[in-house]
Amino acid sequence: MTERELFYRYLGLPSFSPLALDIVKAEGLYLIDRDGKRYMDMVSGITVGNIGHRHPLVLDAIREQIDRYLHVNVYGEFIQSPQVHLARRLAGLLPAPLDSTYFVNSGSEAVEGALKLAKRFTHRTEIVAFEGAYHGSTHGSLSILGNETLKNAFRPLLPDIRFIEYNNIDQLELISSHTACIVIEMVQAEAGIIPAERSFIDHLKERCLKYGALIIVDDVQMGMGRSGKLFSFEHYDLIPDILVLAKALGAGMPLGAFIASRKMMDSLTNHPELGHITTFGGHPVSCAAALAGIEVLLSGSLIDSVKEKGKQIEKKLSGNSSVSAIRRVGLALGIDLAHPEKRDAFTRAALENGVVIDWYLFKPATFRIAPPLTITSEEIDLACEKVTDALESI
Ligand code: PMP
Repeated sequence: MTERELFYRYLGLPSFSPLALDIVKAEGLYLIDRDGKRYMDMVSGITVGNIGHRHPLVLDAIREQIDRYLHVNVYGEFIQSPQVHLARRLAGLLPAPLDSTYFVNSGSEAVEGALKLAKRFTHRTEIVAFEGAYHGSTHGSLSILGNETLKNAFRPLLPDIRFIEYNNIDQLELISSHTACIVIEMVQAEAGIIPAERSFIDHLKERCLKYGALIIVDDVQMGMGRSGKLFSFEHYDLIPDILVLAKALGAGMPLGAFIASRKMMDSLTNHPELGHITTFGGHPVSCAAALAGIEVLLSGSLIDSVKEKGKQIEKKLSGNSSVSAIRRVGLALGIDLAHPEKRDAFTRAALENGVVIDWYLFKPATFRIAPPLTITSEEIDLACEKVTDALESI
């Protein structure tokens, strides 16, 4: 059997129509397939590769760590240099009181930990979430996912979840003294790149303060520089009670984290002790990669360049008759196809032209452009020409 046949025969696959590129190597912006064809990865492996694929400094850090140790014990039992230095670095980059990091393996898992922490700390059970939100695929994170199609078949889910409309100030009235937490993305990515309005966040903050409800910010997709700041909440007058990170945090390795104050985090250590445990969370190789990745992100003016690069893409693709609207935050663009029925043809044409694009989960006719932040101005021009070509060919 070819590897393609093995893929379809032996892997559990979430989709009927995977892109099924047969990738043998990745470097920077580029993916290279078995036939040697090069693709520009304009989605960064779905917003993981914010510094591109296989950044040399990340590879060095990984090599150094694999020469020392891989997994040595369950999370939180042994002192592991990459974990402690990464946690300290994150604390230094975040505003007080966010100084205690719990490492896990993925975004969903980090959301699970954050929800448990909020319930444990507040002694409340109600969770407020948003229509159009994506937080992951495990039972807890699915429970706060604001889309019926993806979750209906898996009920019963967590009880005591209330959904409100994103950016609807009136509906914030639902937050009360029963609410443990509200979980929010500062930019709803899978809804097609919808940013939170500033006044909405001001009201949300006020309401949560009044009733003692915690604010969990899910920065899994928009974090690590994607929004034009290291963390997307920095665009607002807001400090989350719990911050959730994953995806680009591990610079290509699996890593998630939820971050809170020391005091809040300590509640997972008490009554019961071992309130949250994980075998592989904060894997030393992932943490070493993450630490190197953060230094790359913060070097030079990479994050400062995000806004301009995003604008350049928007300018290049707007005005195309196949595009009906573009929404953009930093280097995350949601581009609506004027003719949704041409979606699959467009994906194929883009691949044919050597560009990987993708679609937002809850906006099937909105395509995703979210390249590595390290993309150059020349690469943007070239990618946009290829995308334009593909749009015109359909
Ligand atoms: N939150 C957000 C905002 C996400 O975009 C995602 C992944 N798309 C997740 C959580 C879940 O992350 P993971 O797939 O690593 O579990």
